[in-house]
Amino acid sequence: MPFEPRTWLEIDLHCFEHNLAQVRSRARSASIMSVIKANAYGHGIALAAKGLASSDEFAVTDLNEACTLRELGVGQAITTLSAYYDKTDLDYAASENIQLTVYDASQIELIENTKLSKPLSIWLKVDTGMGRLGFNENEVASVFARLNALEQVHSIGLLSHLANADDPSNAYNQLQFMSLKRVSDRFKWQRRSLLNSAGLCHTSPLIYDVVRPGIMLYGASPLLGKTSQDLDLAPVMTLKARVLSVKQIKAGAKIGYGSDYVCKSDTEVAIIACGYGDGYPRRVAGARVVINDQVCPVLGRPSMDMITVDTIGSNAAVGDTAIIWGKHNPIEETALAANTISYELMTGITNRVERRVIN
Ligand SMILES: *Cc1c(COP(=O)(O)O)cnc(C)c1O
Repeated sequence: MPFEPRTWLEIDLHCFEHNLAQVRSRARSASIMSVIKANAYGHGIALAAKGLASSDEFAVTDLNEACTLRELGVGQAITTLSAYYDKTDLDYAASENIQLTVYDASQIELIENTKLSKPLSIWLKVDTGMGRLGFNENEVASVFARLNALEQVHSIGLLSHLANADDPSNAYNQLQFMSLKRVSDRFKWQRRSLLNSAGLCHTSPLIYDVVRPGIMLYGASPLLGKTSQDLDLAPVMTLKARVLSVKQIKAGAKIGYGSDYVCKSDTEVAIIACGYGDGYPRRVAGARVVINDQVCPVLGRPSMDMITVDTIGSNAAVGDTAIIWGKHNPIEETALAANTISYELMTGITNRVERRVIN
């Protein structure tokens, strides 16, 4: 882009390494499958592949993302977590060492009916309580037997996902652990994988062979009520925007669409070049940005290109940089103020926001 951006995203590649080291220290000897689905949680899949290059393997959403990684020269094993497959997909996956997740009877039929030049490595997804993709515990015996009989299938791994891992005290975790343990013990699996970031951050007894961290690699906390600082994670992304205008507002003046914010006293405000057109959540209550090290509350409704903040004596001037979230302004706080999670904010950053690599 020829002009200086009004809003930009800084991606600190060093932070990826720090967070990966945190994962390694928790994962003991398990293989680390870095989850870089959804364009690496909005960070850019090419940047994440670079920052996380020392991962043992990767997971992505679908074969298009897997293909992007192979084109970037990524040599590690890649797993696709969810996709609809046809014969072309199976051929590509087999030839490019891409491991497919099998969670639906139609996929087994497809594999049975397809001749392949090379056999596939697959993950069998078992629904131990997530209530989403995967076979139920009582279906595993027949499904495993069918797949195990095929020469098209080279190895079968066991994959499952926790529904309440963000809350370590939730008893549902134990139910899922027990279901998975039963399935794990009954069959001869090549590899087993259960834990995402949140699972890795409690003292789960079931680390298994492969762990699948996502959010913690990007430096956000996976646990309710814990910050990235509590867990010694470093935010990879920092969303920044320019101050467009600074002005004095009288008590009683209204701010933004709907005029539902009324200034209680004479106030200095700054208008910041970031809005829902950049991925800033429109429904926030109590969100804050940081200008010149000063925390500044967001006032009124965010609009498409702008938010308004109380400068609170930050000496904000036109052209200054506001930290919308990231380093020095935890994304978890804006997520909480918007009644959502950091994942949604990260993946919601729009295309017009320029990604800049630092470090
Ligand atoms: C997204 C995803 C992960 C990573 O989850 P985080 O909470 O980001 O660590 C792991 N496993 C599966 C199946 C996923 O879909």
